Amino acid sequence: MIVIRNARILGGEPRDILIANGLISEIGAGLGGDTVIEADGLIALPGLVDLHTHLREPGREDAETVETGTRAAAMGGFTAVHAMANTSPVADTAGVVEQVWRRGQEAGHCDVHPVGAVTSGLEGKHLAELGAMADSQARVRVFSDDGKCVSDAVLMRRALEYVKAFDGVVAQHAQEPRLTEGAQLNEGEVSGRLGLTGWPAVAEEAIIARDCLLAAHVGSRLHVCHVSTAGSVEIIRWAKSKGWNVTAEVTPHHLLLTDSCAEASPVGPYNPIYKVNPPLRTHEDVTALREALADGTIDCVATDHAPHPVEDKETEWAAAAMGMIGLETALSVVQEAMVETGLLDWAGVADRMSVRPARIGRLSGQGLPLEVGAPANITLYDPAVRTPVDPTAMVSRSRNTPYEGLTLPGRVVATLLRGRPTVLDGKLV
Ligand SMILES: [Zn+2]
Repeated sequence: MIVIRNARILGGEPRDILIANGLISEIGAGLGGDTVIEADGLIALPGLVDLHTHLREPGREDAETVETGTRAAAMGGFTAVHAMANTSPVADTAGVVEQVWRRGQEAGHCDVHPVGAVTSGLEGKHLAELGAMADSQARVRVFSDDGKCVSDAVLMRRALEYVKAFDGVVAQHAQEPRLTEGAQLNEGEVSGRLGLTGWPAVAEEAIIARDCLLAAHVGSRLHVCHVSTAGSVEIIRWAKSKGWNVTAEVTPHHLLLTDSCAEASPVGPYNPIYKVNPPLRTHEDVTALREALADGTIDCVATDHAPHPVEDKETEWAAAAMGMIGLETALSVVQEAMVETGLLDWAGVADRMSVRPARIGRLSGQGLPLEVGAPANITLYDPAVRTPVDPTAMVSRSRNTPYEGLTLPGRVVATLLRGRPTVLDGKLV
């Protein structure tokens, strides 16, 4: 039996949490156990759940593997991640999703829920084997061609219709392909000054508007990946006001960084560490995204952890790969952007980073309140420290963090997966 001593559940008064057989068996004062985790000053959150992680396996094990990516997840306080389907081969069959699911079980650092591709090979031509993936051991409920947009309206409609049979959800990467041909950076003043091909907000907003209408038309669930513009927020707010089944996520980096990073980086302009899809937007967009996450228009934070090897990132801007790693810094960035600004309290953070993503992914046993009888999926977090981000200290196989040189608040001290520590004293167990 493990006892966590003096933890502040959701930032409340210090309590002891007793864990037995993987469950929370008692919450109170002066509890004893065989193993003691001292949690003075630490906040206890339900284990974080990520709806959007690129683990890169199979196919790009030079960037990340299920083993290294789930280690990074545990270090970031996550007890469950959804592994995106844009691997090689693509996760578009029961065989591939079961392989990823099994690798997650073997690694054991957090639960791995494979996302199934919407279309075969992410080619946008034919629906993948959605039903077979849903019925597989991996029990897929989230389907996405992430990295690519399901731009064909008929295919998107068919996918939305199909997933209703098993209460699945289509997670759309909203990017109108013709409007973003060769696009490099948010279309605006900065892209103009740098001479980089603009990536207009309307390319995202047009797809979101269309998909909200389609989801309403067929009565299905739509999830919008990595919302990045103020206009997208307005459309999602409108769709929700109609009672439509639309949910949305925002990444930590879109809550903190703007397109001006591409111009005013510490090492000079055109630093491709800031190249990401969708692109970093403007200060006004960041403000709108923060407000939308606070008022619940955007349901959750999702990392879009996108590891790339050095040779794919440290090259000229136009040739560099798009994406940033984010699992190990997500909670700190959310503290900086949302908690320190007074927009969310710790109960709000738990809701947006655990409860709601687990519900959208239809996970049982994750995202549950820290109460007696609940699975002991627990993150212990110290919000009081501030440390400079050190990419070399990260456990992800890749180092493409945009936060190097920044000092961020907070540190994950421990992560417990069904009562078993995966991280203790800030180190992998
Ligand atoms: Zn995406």
